[in-house]
Amino acid sequence: MDKRGCVKLRYTKWMITLTSVSMLAACGGEETEEVIEENETIEEEVEQSEEELAEETESLEGEPPETATDEEVDEEPAETDEEEVAEETVLEPEYRVNPDTWTLLPLTEEAPEDVVLLTIDDAPDEYAVQMAETLEEMDVPAIFFVNGHLIDSPEGKEKLTRIADMGFAIGNHTWAHENLTELSPEDQTEEIVIVNEQVQTVIGEKPRFFRAPFGENTETSMLVADRQEMVPMNWTYGYDWNEEYMEPEALADIMVNTDLLVDGSILLMHDREWSAAALPEIIQGIRDKGYTFADPALIEGGGAVADIE
Ligand SMILES: [Zn+2]
Repeated sequence: MDKRGCVKLRYTKWMITLTSVSMLAACGGEETEEVIEENETIEEEVEQSEEELAEETESLEGEPPETATDEEVDEEPAETDEEEVAEETVLEPEYRVNPDTWTLLPLTEEAPEDVVLLTIDDAPDEYAVQMAETLEEMDVPAIFFVNGHLIDSPEGKEKLTRIADMGFAIGNHTWAHENLTELSPEDQTEEIVIVNEQVQTVIGEKPRFFRAPFGENTETSMLVADRQEMVPMNWTYGYDWNEEYMEPEALADIMVNTDLLVDGSILLMHDREWSAAALPEIIQGIRDKGYTFADPALIEGGGAVADIE
C-alpha cells in the first residue's frame, strides 16, 4: 500500500510538471492541449492500470537476466573502458534532476551552481559520432539518448560503442521513437525495456537516464523507468528542430543567448547536420558566459549510483 501510494503521489506531481514543460516538446512534438487531455485520461486510467503495470514490470524483472546486472558489471569489467566507467559510478552524486523545471540542482555546497548539461537525442544516426568527437576534443561530457532502431545494425552498434568508449553517458530514448501516449502500456514497456537490453548487450551496461520521445511521458513510462533504475530527464531548452534554427549560425546564437540558459539548464540537441556544425560555437559561447558542463556521472539516481547509497 505504501509503495503504491508513493508511486501515485509521484505521478500527480509529474503530471503537473508535464503540463508546464510540454510547450518545449521536441522532435515535432504535440500540442499542449493534447497533453493536458492525455494527463486527464491518465489520471482516470491509473486506478485500473497501476496494478497491472506493477505486475507486468515485476514479471519482467522476474525473468532470468540474459545479461549481467550492474553489480556483475562492476565486479567483472570487460576489456573496453569499463573500469573507467565503474570508477566514475562510485562518485558521490553532486546533482539531482529537478522534474519541476528539468534543470540540475546541486546537492552539495561544493557542487558549482553555474553548470549546464548537454544532451543529444535521436542518436546514433549520421552525426552522433562526429558530435562525440567534437565534445571529446573540447572536453565536454554529455548524454547521448539512443533509439533502439538506430543500434540494430552492425554499423549502429559500432557507433554506439565508439560513443560509449569515448566516455559519454548513454540514455534510453525508446526503440522506435513513437509517442508513448499513443501506445498501450504493454507496447510502451517493450519500447523502453528492449533498448536497455540491447544497450547492455552492446556496451556492457544499461542506460541510467530515460527520455521519452517528444518529452511525452506517461505513468507507464515513469513506472518502467523507475523499475529499470533510470532517471527520467526532459530538458530545459532546445531549438534545433525548429526550421528557423536548422542552420548553424542561428542555432549557436539562440543556444547561447536564450534567456532559458540559467544555472543547471539541461540543453537538448539532436543528431543533425546543423547541430553538429554549431556544436563548437555553442560550447565556446556557453563557456564564455561562465558556465561549465556537468558530468552525467555526478547526477543522482539510476542504476549504479543509486546502488551505492
Ligand atoms: Zn527524439
